[in-house]
Amino acid sequence: CGIVGIVGNQPVSGRLVDALKRLEYRGYDSAGVATIHDGVMDRRRAEGKLFNLEKKLDSEPLSGTIGIAHTRWATHGVPNETNAHPHFVEGVAVVHNGIIENFSELRDELTAEGAVFTTQTDTEIVAQLLAKYRRQGLDNRAAMLAMLNDVTGAYALVVMFADDPDTIMAARFGPPLAVGFGKGEMFLGSDAIALAPFTNEIAYLVDGDCAIIHKGGAEIMDYAGNPVERPHQISQATA
Ligand code: GLU
Repeated sequence: CGIVGIVGNQPVSGRLVDALKRLEYRGYDSAGVATIHDGVMDRRRAEGKLFNLEKKLDSEPLSGTIGIAHTRWATHGVPNETNAHPHFVEGVAVVHNGIIENFSELRDELTAEGAVFTTQTDTEIVAQLLAKYRRQGLDNRAAMLAMLNDVTGAYALVVMFADDPDTIMAARFGPPLAVGFGKGEMFLGSDAIALAPFTNEIAYLVDGDCAIIHKGGAEIMDYAGNPVERPHQISQATA
């Protein structure tokens, strides 16, 4: 029920967990973090409170200056570690708030084509579709736009690719998602409160927006790839 992403120039895993703590007020049943370090994408996930995730990160730290994180409020699939986000499929990592309404039709189609689903969540369809389009030869951006044209429902989505450790992609249709502009670092979060320790310069995505963020800035577009501008605002949220 909360999302954070950082494309940074300092280690992210501790900062991601701190930002998740600022989203605890939304409620959650499990949590997870993924980072990329030296070309390897890895994750830690835990059922229950963020304390459980922190214990795992203490014994098995995640390094890396790019990462995504999630607190989950289960809608499809029991709250356990397997169903906790981020979901990984073939070098794609996905966190999601909301519900993908047409996931069962899409899952049946992909299963018929040979895909193997490993969770009970609606979210996994997003990672499976991205993996499918990449296998078909689409680049990450084209795969993201193709996936967004397939799914229906309510979502804030944040996606990371093991083969591109400089970029995080995001989309919004329903649940809020903000882009945060830092100094040589960029952020994504469910709200300005989560990002307040990092930056107060925020642009909220609008329904139907896809954002591609790099250290140096953000590109925002519609699902056809046409650029759009979203106003920057200075949030009053305090760190
Ligand atoms: N529907 C997704 C799930 O059950 C996301 C839930 C959420 O918003 O945290 O995994």
